[in-house]
Amino acid sequence: MKQQSVPPGKHKLPPLPYPYYALEPIIGAETIEIHHNQHHKAYIEGLNNAELALSEARKKNDFALIKHWERELAFHGSGHILHSIYWTVMAPPAAGGKPGPHTLREINRYFGNFDAFMAQFINAAVKVEASGWALAVWNPAWERLEILNAEKHQDLTQWGSIPILVLDVWEHAYYLDYQYRRENYVRSWIQLVNWHEVENRLFLAKQGRLPLLMCDYDAE
Ligand code: MN
Repeated sequence: MKQQSVPPGKHKLPPLPYPYYALEPIIGAETIEIHHNQHHKAYIEGLNNAELALSEARKKNDFALIKHWERELAFHGSGHILHSIYWTVMAPPAAGGKPGPHTLREINRYFGNFDAFMAQFINAAVKVEASGWALAVWNPAWERLEILNAEKHQDLTQWGSIPILVLDVWEHAYYLDYQYRRENYVRSWIQLVNWHEVENRLFLAKQGRLPLLMCDYDAE
């Protein structure tokens, strides 16, 4: 199978799977058109800009604006990913059918029943402070659904991405050893990376899976 990867700066606005008016009377055509053709498009332009700027930064080895561009990457990247999902998880009124057998089984397995799941989802959505999202997600490491909200989608960097290598830069991770010298910690930390495990995680992530976290549960 040919690997499909998006080069830096090459994201495109995906076409809607239905006309602008298709979700009326629940969401009007004008809302959908502005939302898709202005808001979603702006996320894609922002994401492309950030990717190209970071590509330039790598070439020049100039990371003076790294904080700005990483924030842009997270904000616009998550915006693009979440909107792409939002369009496809909606259908014209009554056209979307009922929850399928896998969905129902996983909902019942973790939430007990469908009503409890929907009650939590609705409350999570209603109570998002200011702008944000409610999400039902599959956690491949714990093999279950969860309901999450995102008050600022960029705070969780790019939704839909699976972590391969992570570095804790909270002060508790290094303060006793390095005090305020975070850069010394980060540069030394690179020598600790277990690249075998990174390879393993990438392999599993490409199959849509994640290994269980250490000590995550007691295997019987
Ligand atoms: Mn939106």
